[in-house]
Amino acid sequence: MNAIENDSCLRYYAESVISQPGDPYMLKKLAISSLALAAGFAVAQDQVVNLYSARHYQTDEKLYSDFTKATGIKVNRVDADDAGILARLRAEGAASPADVILLVDAARLWKGDSDGLFKPVRSTVLEAAIPANLRARATPEGTTWFGFSTRARVVVYDKLKIKKADVDTYEELADPKNRGLVCTRSGSHPYNLSLFGAVTEHIGEVKAETWLAGLVANMARAPKGGDTDQIKAVASGECGVALTNTYYLARIMRSNTSEDKAIAERVGVVFPNQDSWGTHVNIAGAAVAKNAKNTANAVKFMEYMASASAQEYFANGNNEWPAVRGLDISNPALKAMGTFKSETIPISAVGNNQLKVQQMLDRVGYK
Ligand code: FE
Repeated sequence: MNAIENDSCLRYYAESVISQPGDPYMLKKLAISSLALAAGFAVAQDQVVNLYSARHYQTDEKLYSDFTKATGIKVNRVDADDAGILARLRAEGAASPADVILLVDAARLWKGDSDGLFKPVRSTVLEAAIPANLRARATPEGTTWFGFSTRARVVVYDKLKIKKADVDTYEELADPKNRGLVCTRSGSHPYNLSLFGAVTEHIGEVKAETWLAGLVANMARAPKGGDTDQIKAVASGECGVALTNTYYLARIMRSNTSEDKAIAERVGVVFPNQDSWGTHVNIAGAAVAKNAKNTANAVKFMEYMASASAQEYFANGNNEWPAVRGLDISNPALKAMGTFKSETIPISAVGNNQLKVQQMLDRVGYK
């Protein structure tokens, strides 16, 4: 997870409305400001969007203040992790002030959707900008969630011990030649549920379960820690090969500490399955809350996030790739990782497999 906060420490952030030269809404805002000053009121109380966010990056602040500058809509933000946000939405029910929900995994977005926590929306802007495989399946009512950035789930390996050719597919990680070498975080973590759901989609349930059993047989240690811990365990020699989201690796590659430089030197990265169905790609994405009171502002906010400048901030803030195609972001770690073939199955399909995957994990003893 990117950051964990308990519900007890949820915070509200209110950003002030600032006018800039050339701002098309400036005159309107000035007029409102003058009226408000005369009457001693707060400015434009109703022009807000309430955001529940599982993203916590410095660059996102700029993203939100730019939106306010462009539209006059204030962004009130509640920070929590994905599970905390979904729990809060359920508890608040119809009284929830949430308008936009920002989550960092397709499995969580799918869960929120299937629990009826989102409102389907129609937006030609979003439908044109976000590739169809990176959003929820459209229904006659609209689309419930959209991906705004992508991350790949890749293989990292110890360059001193392992040949790249032995670990360049997900399937090979379960091969007996890799016995005692494999490390992962918990199988039930959303990142792994999504990957295993994708594998199930690609090779079918029977083969996927055999594959999961093979992974368990090949473990160097019982699953524990987060993705960064797996990378470190590969660098220390405890594990030969591990799974990680690309942004954890990018953080290490961009770090200036001698410890991280040594890790980056020792660890190789593979984008698996380049000769078959491609590397599994997950998303960070957003939805309009089921009980949103500011739906139009929520859609405006999401459309803004699909704009070229917002996409750059949004993706780069966490060393991810923009969901919108054809944008070039100047991120040295992503540049160093190069281009790759990603899977093309709809990310919504992996959510559908979650329950099935959890049952398989239980059967094969994947903790
Ligand atoms: Fe994460």
